[in-house]
This record gives sequence, C-alpha cells and structure tokens, in this order.
Amino acid sequence: MTGRDRPIPLATPHLCGNELAYLTECIESNYVSSIGPFVERFERAFAKFVGTKHAVACASGTAALHLAMIAVGVGPNSYGVAPTLTFIASANAIRYTGAEVMLVDAERRTWNMDPGLVEADVKRRARAGHPLPSVIEAVHILGHPAQVEVLLTLRDKYGIPIVEDAAEALGARYATGPLAGRQVGAIGDLGCFSFNGNKTMTTGGGGMVVTNDWHLAERVRHLSTQARLPGVAYDHDAVGFNYRLTNIAAALGLAQLEQLPRLLARKSSLAARYDAAFGDLPVELPPRSSDAVSSHWLYSLLVDTAHTRDEMVRRLNVAGIEARPLWPPLHTQQPYRHAPIMGGLTAMELAARGVSLPSGAGLTNSEQARTIDGVREVLCETRYVPSGPFVYPG
Ligand SMILES: *Cc1c(COP(=O)(O)O)cnc(C)c1O
Repeated sequence: MTGRDRPIPLATPHLCGNELAYLTECIESNYVSSIGPFVERFERAFAKFVGTKHAVACASGTAALHLAMIAVGVGPNSYGVAPTLTFIASANAIRYTGAEVMLVDAERRTWNMDPGLVEADVKRRARAGHPLPSVIEAVHILGHPAQVEVLLTLRDKYGIPIVEDAAEALGARYATGPLAGRQVGAIGDLGCFSFNGNKTMTTGGGGMVVTNDWHLAERVRHLSTQARLPGVAYDHDAVGFNYRLTNIAAALGLAQLEQLPRLLARKSSLAARYDAAFGDLPVELPPRSSDAVSSHWLYSLLVDTAHTRDEMVRRLNVAGIEARPLWPPLHTQQPYRHAPIMGGLTAMELAARGVSLPSGAGLTNSEQARTIDGVREVLCETRYVPSGPFVYPG
C-alpha cells in the first residue's frame, strides 16, 4: 500500500457508453427538463430489462419508494413492516406517509429481513383480530435477493401488499423454485430502484417504480407530476409531488442501461476474485444462496469482532482505500429508537462485524489487488494471518 496512488472509491459512477452522445442530444433538442423523449425510452427499456409491464421514472430511489407506499395505501393510522438492517431510506419512505414502522431482525442466510419472524407476527395478529400491516417492504440489501416466498403467501392469504426496495439489487434474480428466472423488483405489487451515483447504474440521481399493475403505475405517475389532471388548466385531484425524472437524467439512464450487462458482469467477477482471495482468512464471505443470484452491489464481509472492523476500516482509509462499516441497525438510530423491533440481535451482529469494500464496476484489477493486500495486512496483525501480496489464480 502506498499513499501515492489515487484513492480507491467504494462505488462511483462508471460512464462507459452512449452517455455523452445522449446528453448532447438533450441539449441540442432543448429537451432538458421533465418532458422529453428519453424519459419514455428509458422507462420502456427498463421495464423490459426487469420484466414488468410498466415503469415510472422518479427523481430518486427514495421518491420512488415514497410513491409506491402511497400507491398501495400506506398512510396514517397504519404501520409498515421493514428490516432493521438497511439504508435508512427504506424505513423513511413509510414514515413520510404518516404510518409507523415495525422493524424486523435480519436472517443469517441472506442478511435480509427474517421472513419467519414476519410470518409468525402476522399470524399471531390475525388470530387475535389485531390490525395487520399496511405493507411489507422486502429489501434486497447489498444486492442479494431476500427470501420472499413466505411474504407472498402472506399477501395472498391476508391481502397485505408487498413493496420491494430493490435499490441495491438491480439485475439480481431468483434461480430455482416458483420464482426461477424472475428478477428482484418484479415480484411484489411494486418494485423500486435507485440510480444514485453509488448504485450499480446511475442517472446522477434518480429512481424507478416498476409494476405489472396498470392502475398502480398510473397512480404513481400521476402523483409524481403534482397530481395534475390532463388539459391546460391547473386542476389537481390530490396532493401530489414533483418527483418526476428529468430528460437529462433519463438520457444518462438509457445509456447506462445499455451497459448494465457489462456492469453486472464486472461486479460479479470482482466478487469472485474477492471470494477467492479471502477464502483462507478468518472472515465470513457475503451470502451466496444456491437459489438466487446476487447483483454483487457492494462486497461486504464479516470479520471476527467490532474491534477488528474498526481497525480494518480505519487502516484501509488511511491507505486511501474507501472501506465502510455496514449501516447501524435502524432501531439503534435516533429517528427509529422508539419503533417496535422484532428480534434484532442478528442485525446487530452483522452490523458490528461487517465491512464493505470497494466494489464499483470501474475498479481496476490493480486497485482490487491493493484492497486485497490491505485486508490481509490488517488481519495479519490482528489475527496472525500469513501476509504477502495476493496472486490472482490463472
Ligand atoms: C440507495 C438506497 C435507497 C435510496 O435511493 P436514493 O436514490 O438515494 O434516494 C433506498 N433504499 C436502499 C436500500 C438504498 O440502498
């Protein structure tokens, strides 16, 4: 590790296709705002990629989630179920509507929300005649698909809508069982994606809601444009939002979407290299279930203790390598300190031991090798692991 090399970012945009050409088209045609041909082109191509009938482009992933929650009827005097181990926007989208959030522990197998806890609680409530949640939010954290089959059963049995937060998991899919071949985001009533700069593909900032339900798609589209009725008059039938994506952002999005298979393939090979390089270390590799394919958004491993985690993050950062701890579980954070929580110890453990490593599609092989050496060096000093530079197999 030398300080002279350029810092290695955690995840940054990788602009490698028609981005400039499409942006030039926007500027030359004067379509730079929320009206323009790229918005519709991007929506159509995105729906096709994910495998849904409809897609509505939004100003951010958070805006997409907010509209999805309203569209399925989440609001005051209700509560939504969400994982405690996720980025805070997942839960905020429920709170924006006036609903409360019930947080749920993570499971070991995928690090996502434990569906068994949700099932047990919903069944208990149904038996007791207590109110059921107005939404179950399935978040696919770090790119790994959540176990959703149990949640789908609850939807069918009790009519509880499912909103997927697939912000980190674009391109991830199920491989076996009844959902085989289906992509995350296309499973629930509505699925939401983010195109923030750190996500697998970016529009600078943006998001998308996808669904197979025409009425839900129209509701989201309507609310995203101030709930304004067609025609020249300023007639509105609801309190809407200014959440539409601009044509400029959509132009970037379409160019990035064309590159998405390449971006995903690169992230998958980065993850495979990390896996191979860390196989002999006292760490736990990220979840890989045999019935799902991860999008490998952010490569995260578990070290032995919170102390090792802090040391690793600190020392990698000093070496110019942008490593990060996982998110503190939401039930430990100020806005959700009083939210009800089911379990929570697994999320606490994953958060205490989790370290995320540089995973952007633009990461070079030599930057990855530097990161691997850095990780080995830290573990060598804290855990007596053989040191030395990592040699790629083959
Ligand atoms: C990034 C992210 C969001 C929010 O997306 P933005 O586009 O940044 O608003 C929501 N949920 C999860 C899990 C995310 O990682």
